[in-house]
Amino acid sequence: MTLAGRAVQAAGARWRRRVADRAADVTGTLAGRALLVLAPHPDDETFGCGALIARARAAGSPVTVAVATDGARSTASARLSPAGLARLRTGELHAACAALGVTDVLQLGFPDGGLTDRRDALTTRLRGLYRDLRPEYVLLPCRQDAHPDHRALHEAALAAGPPRALAYPVWAWFEAPVFPAAAAADRVALWAWAAARSGWLRVPTGPYLAAKREAVSAYLSQTTNLTGEPGWSHLDPRFVAAFLGPHEVFRPA
Ligand SMILES: [Zn+2]
Repeated sequence: MTLAGRAVQAAGARWRRRVADRAADVTGTLAGRALLVLAPHPDDETFGCGALIARARAAGSPVTVAVATDGARSTASARLSPAGLARLRTGELHAACAALGVTDVLQLGFPDGGLTDRRDALTTRLRGLYRDLRPEYVLLPCRQDAHPDHRALHEAALAAGPPRALAYPVWAWFEAPVFPAAAAADRVALWAWAAARSGWLRVPTGPYLAAKREAVSAYLSQTTNLTGEPGWSHLDPRFVAAFLGPHEVFRPA
């Protein structure tokens, strides 16, 4: 890695520690609550809230994980069709959720990469889920995540009128505080978000980090080069490591 790359990584690690240190612990507030965890793609629920989910399930609290897309477009592959990749990721999702103690897993069937165009239909679907499941807290991706599906799910989840909502960062958690890939027009708002001294919330991963690790390890298609193809797109090990720290963090949405 270049010197500049190493400096960006070090700044990210420092930023994550600082955010977690100054966050308010909401473990007690969330204890015993019925949770609905909304994920754009299979794996976001685990990276963003895996330990929180495992903690809630260990205490007997109801948790439903609803995944908007099947993740069919996470990589190009000559060996695996998009439908094959979707089947694989569905299997990984169920294995990961089992590791976290969750059996209530819903796949909403929206196209991977297509949530922005389907925001109204997604909002309608989520409104129905809130009505049927009656969650006390909805966990949703934060709008600072650079992926358009994450932003679209954030917006739809709020437009659907959640009871109480907490946003969890995925891409933004890894890319802050520098946001090297962000569009210049977004950067000032992202820097302001990363610099906010108040408003951060945290839940320690504690003894539930082991279940989170097990759930992460179910996602081999996302964390390894599964087929060995040079074009197989997968997550950087430093990305994965950023989510296996002592806390998960949230902000009120
Ligand atoms: Zn995602």
